[in-house]
Amino acid sequence: MDDLDKRINDILADVVAWRHDLHAHPELGFEEKRTAAFIAEHLTSFGLEVHTGLAGTGVVGVLRNGNGPAIGMRADIDALPILEATGLPYASKNPGRMHACGHDGHTTMLLAAARILAERKPRGTFVFIFQPAEENQGGGRVMVEEGLFSRFPVDAVYGAHNWPGLACGQFAVHAGPVMAAFDTFEAIIEGRGSHGAMPHQGVDPITISAQLQTAWQAIVSRSISPTDPAVISVTQIHAGDTWNVIPDKLVLRGTVRSFDPKVRDLLETKMAQRAERICAAFDAVCHFTYTRRYPATINSAAEAQTAQRVATLAAGHERVVTDRAPSMAAEDFAFMLEQKPGAYIWMGNGSEDGGRNLHSPHYDFNDEVLPHGIRYWVMLAQSACDQMAT
Ligand SMILES: [Zn+2]
Ligand SMILES: [Zn+2]
Repeated sequence: MDDLDKRINDILADVVAWRHDLHAHPELGFEEKRTAAFIAEHLTSFGLEVHTGLAGTGVVGVLRNGNGPAIGMRADIDALPILEATGLPYASKNPGRMHACGHDGHTTMLLAAARILAERKPRGTFVFIFQPAEENQGGGRVMVEEGLFSRFPVDAVYGAHNWPGLACGQFAVHAGPVMAAFDTFEAIIEGRGSHGAMPHQGVDPITISAQLQTAWQAIVSRSISPTDPAVISVTQIHAGDTWNVIPDKLVLRGTVRSFDPKVRDLLETKMAQRAERICAAFDAVCHFTYTRRYPATINSAAEAQTAQRVATLAAGHERVVTDRAPSMAAEDFAFMLEQKPGAYIWMGNGSEDGGRNLHSPHYDFNDEVLPHGIRYWVMLAQSACDQMAT
């Protein structure tokens, strides 16, 4: 056990208590008032410079110690609109709100790293970014737009997420795409309602929607190279109220995922074209909207290598996975990586069984991950500083 392990061990009971406190008080995106106050209070008590109000409920803690590298480290702080079903003693006290993605754990690990780094004082500037509203509203984008990096300039920015399916104590990181670009769409098909027994008297939007879905899926299977990942998922269909009435109108909604910006452009253009043309072919009118939500999360090569080196130092070579396939899920840390070089890593959260799936009402962040994550963050800051010194 080295010095750092000893120190982490000393404060671990405190740190677990923070995690359980945050878990019991989950708040949705941009509503994280108590969470932000909790973070600001702790950062202040460690002696950091604290800035609140960035993107509403975002908090930034800064540790400055002379000349050296400037490194940003980011944790997300928001919860989800889920009714918790874990039955844990520290389960959510806010019904319908739940830390089901482990952001309580992310916040806790970065807070603990700030505490230890404030004691160790490596040379340089360390910016601890506590970002609101990761899940849906793009708090990362709002922080960037509100001047995160002009107010707190950094050479590189790093992020992390717990990952069920990777064993606790394992890390996964690679250069290039890690998480997909995330877009949403809506198609409103306006036909003309009629009697269910006399469809020829109307324009049936339900039949048209079936054609449209098939045509959209053929974009992925026939217009995009099989080696380029792309997903179109229709996740909502709304139309009709009874057995014998063809409705006037139908609404389709869903999500689109991709990595390559050219593939993303093609998906948007072809989906819009097919919606318009297929509806026109069947005498209906289509109102199609496509909304670009989060860009792809892409690790820069040098910083991915730094994260790999630090994870190897922290956990040992055999516990660092460098060839894990990217995920088609999305992450608004992408907005920070558009501005600065950096790397986003996955930290193992134990096996996928045992109720540890992200966004499940049975999920709980694995407290055994805490020391591994804290160790990674502290060593990342120290290593950036050592590298600068050599
Ligand atoms: Zn999530
Ligand atoms: Zn998450």
